[in-house]
Amino acid sequence: MTKWVYSFGNGLNEGRAEMRNLLGGKGANLAEMASIGLPVPPGFTITTEVCSAFYDNGRKYPEDLRAQVDAAMQRIEGAMGLRFGDADAPLLVSVRSGARVSMPGMMDTVLNLGLNDETVQGLARSSGDERFAWDSYRRFVQMYGSVVMGVAHHHFEDVLDQFKRTLGVIDDTAITAAQWREVVKAYHEIIHEHTGQEFPSDPQAQLLGAIGAVFGSWMNPRANTYRRLHDIPASWGTAVNVQSMVFGNMGDDCATGVCFTRDPSTGEDVFYGEYLVNAQGEDVVAGIRTPQPMSRARAEEGQHPMETVLPDAYAELLRVRTLLERHYRDMQDIEFTVQRNVLYLLQTRNGKRTAAAALKIAIDMAREGLISKEDAICRVPATSLDQLLHPALDPKADRVQLTRGLPASPGAASGAVVFTAEECEARAARGEDVILVRVETSPEDVHGMHAARGVLTARGGMTSHAAVVARGMGRVCVAGAGSVHIDYATMVMTIDGHSIAEGDWITLDGSTGAVYLGRVATIPPILSDDFNTLMGWADSIRRLGVRANAETPDDAKTACRFGAEGIGLARTEHMFFGPDRIGHVRQMIIADEETVRQRAINALLVFQRDDFVSIFRIMAGLPVTVRLLDPPLHEFLPHAEAEFAEVATALGKTVEEIRARCASLAEANPMLGHRGCRLGLTNPEIYAMQVRAIIEAALQVSDETGKGIVPEIMIPLVATRAELEVARRAAEAEISAVLQERGAALDYRIGTMIELPRAAIQAGEIAHHADFFSFGTNDLTQTTFGLSRDDAGSFLPFYVDHGLLPKDPFVSIDREGVGALVRMGVERGRAAHPGLKLGICGEHGGDPDSIAFFDEVGLDYVSCSPFRVPVARLAAAQAALAHRKENASA
Ligand code: PEP
Ligand code: MG
Repeated sequence: MTKWVYSFGNGLNEGRAEMRNLLGGKGANLAEMASIGLPVPPGFTITTEVCSAFYDNGRKYPEDLRAQVDAAMQRIEGAMGLRFGDADAPLLVSVRSGARVSMPGMMDTVLNLGLNDETVQGLARSSGDERFAWDSYRRFVQMYGSVVMGVAHHHFEDVLDQFKRTLGVIDDTAITAAQWREVVKAYHEIIHEHTGQEFPSDPQAQLLGAIGAVFGSWMNPRANTYRRLHDIPASWGTAVNVQSMVFGNMGDDCATGVCFTRDPSTGEDVFYGEYLVNAQGEDVVAGIRTPQPMSRARAEEGQHPMETVLPDAYAELLRVRTLLERHYRDMQDIEFTVQRNVLYLLQTRNGKRTAAAALKIAIDMAREGLISKEDAICRVPATSLDQLLHPALDPKADRVQLTRGLPASPGAASGAVVFTAEECEARAARGEDVILVRVETSPEDVHGMHAARGVLTARGGMTSHAAVVARGMGRVCVAGAGSVHIDYATMVMTIDGHSIAEGDWITLDGSTGAVYLGRVATIPPILSDDFNTLMGWADSIRRLGVRANAETPDDAKTACRFGAEGIGLARTEHMFFGPDRIGHVRQMIIADEETVRQRAINALLVFQRDDFVSIFRIMAGLPVTVRLLDPPLHEFLPHAEAEFAEVATALGKTVEEIRARCASLAEANPMLGHRGCRLGLTNPEIYAMQVRAIIEAALQVSDETGKGIVPEIMIPLVATRAELEVARRAAEAEISAVLQERGAALDYRIGTMIELPRAAIQAGEIAHHADFFSFGTNDLTQTTFGLSRDDAGSFLPFYVDHGLLPKDPFVSIDREGVGALVRMGVERGRAAHPGLKLGICGEHGGDPDSIAFFDEVGLDYVSCSPFRVPVARLAAAQAALAHRKENASA
């Protein structure tokens, strides 16, 4: 018999923390907490396998599930001394989802399940609080009505608002038992009106309905969106947790809250969180009432910290905080309820955190001896380092502050204000910077938040939906800015007399919570000591070298600042577009007289040599790979009328003649046309000029600095051994000429890009003429798939959305296809030429998944854009640790 149901609490804990794949994160941790003696209300978990079976079998449950659920319910009844559906002392339960990884707010939850017109009386009697019983009942009907029966939430809210207006009350706590009874009646009617069905009064039917709704919500659109954004396979499924209710809304000695064992924004070792007296869990996250701080130290004037209001439960929570951190060896995000001064834990999980917090917590915990340096390296997601490299507001910039909210997710962002997720996505797709402004966000807004540069909300705390989701995504967020008033009808917000319409610009500072009018200038980030410590640890572990793709002095400086160990790709064509150069480039291409052409080439030589001198100076002896001209010549041709005229004058031709010559250079398929080494072989004077510029610059900087510069000259788009052989011979002839003229000696390397399938297959042959290979995985992906780099945007997203490809292959290396060619190139190249140096310089060089692959196939280094260098350093260390682990367990 398959075991579908695992109990926890009251001495029988069938699950463990390691069982998260089967029990989901929540279920596994509830069992773990109960087993280390923490106060967890008893319950049970229906496994993720049931979810998978449910979808595999046309939404039908396994046959023996019902009996296992019944038995587990009886256990809860025994533990609580209550009976499910009993008119005198009814057991109430919560039903919650819990996937393998947490998906905040994505799935549905039902609380207070088991109430009906009879059991509510029993609850009133057993609690001695009739108002509480009816309040719980109306919450249940509302949740069940919307989550299970599909009646839109706002119908219930409208009734309640209308009711409050008639009664003249503002706060829910002022509503009496008899009044709640009226609300419940009205809710029953709404449900009937919208579904044609009665609200189910049988608790067993309620339970089955709620379990079905949780499994059903695994495939709802917002869960699908979340999974797509976070690479979570649909096949994982969710578990369902059924647990005895404890009540935070039974009076002023009750409360509910969410807390973090360390600050999730900064990582500081302070107890951090929010709670509400006399409330149920959803009230805190929903942002309906403004929560209060946990500790006195964090409380401001007029606030009521839990430390003062419920001192005993707070002290107990402090003890739990230490215990859980020691046990899990990570920062925890805890949900709790206090019922009549007694603390209960409803959830613990590794807390989501900003990149800054992840970094600080990892370093601090390693220093505290809680984790090893290796653990610390693996605790910081490599891509999240991007967040730390975010700009901040320039302190010298002028600004007009509109208001201040909570600093929910750090960094600075400016953009046009939009009020809906749809508009946000549409404008972002057109390349606009946008700030999404909402009263509060909900899971329906996630796609808009993803498209936005930043998010501003009027309501909600540091654990509100907006705050949690924005932090996870690395978007700037200011939450709970109370003076923001939004009118969705007119698409205008007002902030203290300022009126801001859709499309007007604002700036958010997610590190302070400030909101500014218009666009405020930003400055690059300053890297903290913790950042440098982590990078140092990563460098001591990684095997792969990390270089940068850079061709301007600014890029080269950034690369050095971020710890690049050289330049793996300087694309020389980028240097040809400067306003002082492009004219000469055009003359070089278009001139038909040799002397005119050579004059243009000589002019370019001076520019190129200066370019290389500045780069060699900045890189101070670190290796620099300069790639000779690659793209098709016609990319440099004139387009505008004035440009044609300019070239015509320079060459003494008519505009018509120039136009005709340009037309003759057009290609049907330029990416597969006259580019790369084909260009250098047919126009050898261009490559000769570039080689001369590189060697002269290297000699000059070697003389200046006394550091031996060893330039690496790279020939692009090679497909055959003969191409490289001829191109190399020509380059060496030019090098000899320069060295002879100068009476100097210089060490240099000549290598090639491996970026065509034929080159990978023929790597053994090509390697005879190469000192190094650099895999150009952008072109290699393009040519292996036969997929245009420039046109793929119109159909690749469809492929990824529909599972035709697991990921965009231009972002993350396609291991089976393109990766197999890289592996072949490595093996064949090294076999023919054992000292061959191997790197990669396509965009994949900055992608952590791809970096793990390049480490595995044994490349010497990766090269990526300068801002990705820290990401690559960390990812390379993580890859090395993963391989160590694999080898140890093999
Ligand atoms: C490549 O093709 O991977 C590469 C690095 O070159 P480019 O992107 O300039 O074609
Ligand atoms: Mg290329």
